[in-house]
Amino acid sequence: MTTTERIYQLYLQHPLISTDTRKITPGSLFFALKGDKFDANTFAEQAIAQGAAYAIIDNAHYRVSEQYILVDDVLTALQDIARMHRQHLTIPVIGLTGSNGKTTTKELINAVLSQRFNTLATQGNLNNHIGVPLTILGIDSTHQIAVIEMGANHQREIEMLCSIAQPNHGLITNVGRAHLEGFGGVEGVKKGKGEMYDYLAHTNGVAFINGNDETLMEMQATRNLKEIIFYGDENNALISGKLTANSPFLSLSWTDNTDRSTYHITSKLTGEYNLPNILAAICIGTFFKLTADEINAGVEGYQPKNNRSQLVQTATNTLVCDYYNANPSSMAVAIENVTKLAANRKVLILGDMFELGEESPLEHLGIIKKAQHAPVDERIFIGEAFFQQQTGTGTYYRTAEDAIRSLKIHPINNSTILIKGSRGMALERLVELL
Ligand code: ATP
Ligand code: MG
Repeated sequence: MTTTERIYQLYLQHPLISTDTRKITPGSLFFALKGDKFDANTFAEQAIAQGAAYAIIDNAHYRVSEQYILVDDVLTALQDIARMHRQHLTIPVIGLTGSNGKTTTKELINAVLSQRFNTLATQGNLNNHIGVPLTILGIDSTHQIAVIEMGANHQREIEMLCSIAQPNHGLITNVGRAHLEGFGGVEGVKKGKGEMYDYLAHTNGVAFINGNDETLMEMQATRNLKEIIFYGDENNALISGKLTANSPFLSLSWTDNTDRSTYHITSKLTGEYNLPNILAAICIGTFFKLTADEINAGVEGYQPKNNRSQLVQTATNTLVCDYYNANPSSMAVAIENVTKLAANRKVLILGDMFELGEESPLEHLGIIKKAQHAPVDERIFIGEAFFQQQTGTGTYYRTAEDAIRSLKIHPINNSTILIKGSRGMALERLVELL
């Protein structure tokens, strides 16, 4: 028996994983992962003392009893047993990646599929080389379908995550101007995200594709995908749909093209860019033979969380809280959305976008221009990258602290305000002043 097989056997007896000594589940397997600032080998003994059944470590120095299992590399061991676990599963696994809207789409798909099935979906944003194996290891014999979010900021990452999650159904939400630094420009992003289609092509998986998205259509055309289910406005789509209102929540009509029946629904999401996210979920629900009632209940019941396009009414303003993250693509669509909302006064509060590498100055300038052309009443730019590019109308602050100081003296009232910036800008600090 190899060490991986042995750990997998232990996992089957103790199917709970811990990686953090602050949250040890008694009887779990503790994987001593290395972070930037810590080496969890040093916490293995503490994990065992707190009730972990076994500790998987990669430093022999910490092996003090039979409960410590020494491997070459703990992260690889975690990924290997996740891969092994996946090979034993026979349920459909839906993998999704893309530049924007992964978590929202994943949550929508889960909201729909859970109307019928016992689903397991990625929790929050645990979509990386650690989150994906942990998610896979959360699947047990009661689950009927799994929805796995996969994030990437460099080449071959999706390939690696697909080798673990082995999705037999896959979706790329879209390909945009995000993580340009790690991927090496937009062509690099296409190639990197395209690894999902490559995997599905090699394994005869089913691809769900937005037929209205030219980039995705171009990407699929060069790959030998065996089964494609389109959604969107195309004639050959399984389901098509269109926006009927966005004030402030999206209403849409969608049609099941197999029998031409049409439905009208209202979501709790704002932002036109969420239309394809919703259609993806409807398409997958239809593919897995849910009834229209089940699908509609799933979509209409879904409430966005964690400041992803979340609408908040304060005593003085309506906030579009979208400060969970930002990149040039999502910034552009978020600005467009605000201009379409019914409001007497509109304000943009935009924070720096990170991880753009050498394209950063131009991309920030591009967003400044876009904001200046947008029919809004006030534009506030926050952060060093915007500050360096300042030109024309708008108020520029080097830091969020500077903006806060100014907002305390000159508050904004009676406005609809988009607040969006990269996570590191932590624009939530402004909310209590608005
Ligand atoms: P992350 O890379 O952090 O995991 P994500 O891809 O999971 O992000 P979400 O968290 O769902 O994306 O959404 C983040 C923001 O992206 C939203 O608040 C919205 O501004 C924007 N967004 C969502 N869907 C789309 C879309 N289809 N096109 C463009 N932008 C979108
Ligand atoms: Mg996400």
